[in-house]
Amino acid sequence: MQVYSAPLRDMRFVLHELHPKTHEQFPAELLDTILEEAGKFCAEVLLPLNAPGDTEGCTFENGVVRTPAGFKDAYKAFTESGWGSLNAAPEYGGQGLPESVAKLVEEMICGCNISFGLYPGLTHGAYLALKSHGSEALKNAYLPKMVSGEWAGSMCLTEPHCGTDLGLLRTKAVPQADGSYKVSGAKIFISAGEHDLADNIIHLVLARLPDAPAGIKGISLFLVPKFIPDANGNPGVRNGVSCAAIEHKMGIKASATCQLNFDDATGWLVGAPHKGMQAMFVMMNSERLSVGTQGLGVGEAAYQAAVAYARERLQGRSLAGAKRPDLAADPIIVHPDVRRALLTMRAYNEGCRALGVWVANALDDSDAGNEEAADFVALLTPVVKALFTDLGYESANLAVQTYGGHGYIKDHGVEQYVRDARIAMIYEGTNGIQALDLVGRKLPANMGRSLRRFFHPVQEFIEAESAHPVLGKMVQGYAKAFGALQLATGFIAEKGMADPEEAGAAATDYLRLFGLVALGFMWLRSAKLALEMLPAAEGPDADFYKAKLGTARFFMERILPQAGGLYLAIKAGKAPLMDMPEEAF
Ligand SMILES: Cc1cc2nc3c(=O)[nH]c(=O)nc-3n(C[C@H](O)[C@H](O)[C@H](O)COP(=O)(O)OP(=O)(O)OC[C@H]3O[C@@H](n4cnc5c(N)ncnc54)[C@H](O)[C@@H]3O)c2cc1C
Repeated sequence: MQVYSAPLRDMRFVLHELHPKTHEQFPAELLDTILEEAGKFCAEVLLPLNAPGDTEGCTFENGVVRTPAGFKDAYKAFTESGWGSLNAAPEYGGQGLPESVAKLVEEMICGCNISFGLYPGLTHGAYLALKSHGSEALKNAYLPKMVSGEWAGSMCLTEPHCGTDLGLLRTKAVPQADGSYKVSGAKIFISAGEHDLADNIIHLVLARLPDAPAGIKGISLFLVPKFIPDANGNPGVRNGVSCAAIEHKMGIKASATCQLNFDDATGWLVGAPHKGMQAMFVMMNSERLSVGTQGLGVGEAAYQAAVAYARERLQGRSLAGAKRPDLAADPIIVHPDVRRALLTMRAYNEGCRALGVWVANALDDSDAGNEEAADFVALLTPVVKALFTDLGYESANLAVQTYGGHGYIKDHGVEQYVRDARIAMIYEGTNGIQALDLVGRKLPANMGRSLRRFFHPVQEFIEAESAHPVLGKMVQGYAKAFGALQLATGFIAEKGMADPEEAGAAATDYLRLFGLVALGFMWLRSAKLALEMLPAAEGPDADFYKAKLGTARFFMERILPQAGGLYLAIKAGKAPLMDMPEEAF
């Protein structure tokens, strides 16, 4: 049986202590209540549907897609309680809550049921793209219903011959006399492309106009509803979009992944002609942060399951002598290797949560027009997407390992985490592509300006705290990892400029190095705070801060040293990859 309890104490720590931010309309107590209630909803409504939804999956019959039993009621309860509109704008019926709170709630949703989370997640992404690039008429007609969850959204990019390379896409859009367009083409792998949860589905579709230049510069974005709204704004006639099949997949089986055919479907242009990627990137960037959150959510669920099992499973004796002589054997949590797995998961999860909320706060500032914050979000988006999903998958695997054979069989539900977490490393741009985005676009952006938004605060912290009486040693160790990141950045700037294959060869290792240094910064700051809070803390609070310090130490001494190895791998350059002749493979 799967277990999940929202990690509320740590969420409050990152929200109010590590990254404090004043929200005038939203006092801290209100935010805490929202998190508490969200935790209850997710554990009571979404978690019980996770394993049955995986077993039953979605079904497809005569063009109709049905979600597993219970999903429809859960979706109704979800939207009616307002969980889908937390960070949407009040002018369209949203609650205008801070991004940080929305991301923490999203983490809970993903920890309980990634498949379920995809439906409202895609609606929110579509809402954002439409809000920033749609005409007033489109916004007024569609956004309120999308915010309320009555209508859902989807993103339609992928075609059979084009996944990463969207420049190859063939779907066409032909202008009509009334200002609309007829959209025709075949899309595959469309999450939430068809389902029975909402009254209408608003597809955001990439397509080419007849006069479009070839490649990525000739793509436009269209809004294509499943039902065309009637004069009263209610779902009217069925549009020319149909589901041909659903995919049979490794995981997220309760998420409907659809093949969609557009046959002269009526659509409306979103944004300027041939500038569709610009508009779609609003949705893609939001989804990338959300997909990262999927990794974190699963990682936390996997950790909780593994800890519960490690406390009760009796096997072997402690190497230091029996810890529970009253029992037939000691619980496996006494073994160093089991602790290595548990602490790795914990250090990843708490580190990612802290980093995610830092980025979420910057997202609010960026939306309010702060350019520095926008740079920071742009820089960190590929890191959050790829790092969090890689680590979430690693955590899911570590949980299975902790359960041994009992993890590999279905009964405990942890093998589902591995299968569900795997897709997050692939969709929304594979993690390899995120790494290329980081080294190819984000590092050189504005002559390195974005990079400084991260490097400067790290540098300042190191300078200020190197002589700290307790943390000094930790800070000095961290400074070495940061030094490796700086050297690697210099190496890529120099070699990658002259030879893009050098940058391509370094990219994945560089993203991991960057990610570990970013998590390390979160751990250092968390440790400093925990030290400051400990003297006045009592009971569970004192335990919390002590555990924070212990986990920080584990991260610094047992995980961060990987930075040195990653730097050496990066410095080896492209030769070990590219010297091998293609025929030799
Ligand atoms: C369950 C599921 C849900 C999905 N949901 C959606 C959705 O809602 N909407 C949507 O539009 N799409 C969706 N997708 C599609 C998904 O985004 C793509 O599968 C993904 O972007 C990769 O494209 P691809 O599968 O064609 O792989 P390819 O592009 O063929 O890539 C194959 C491999 O080559 C690598 N590669 C490709 N190009 C390069 C390059 N230039 N440099 C280095 N490496 C490269 C990739 O990293 C990858 O490892 C979904 C897919 C799945 C499986």
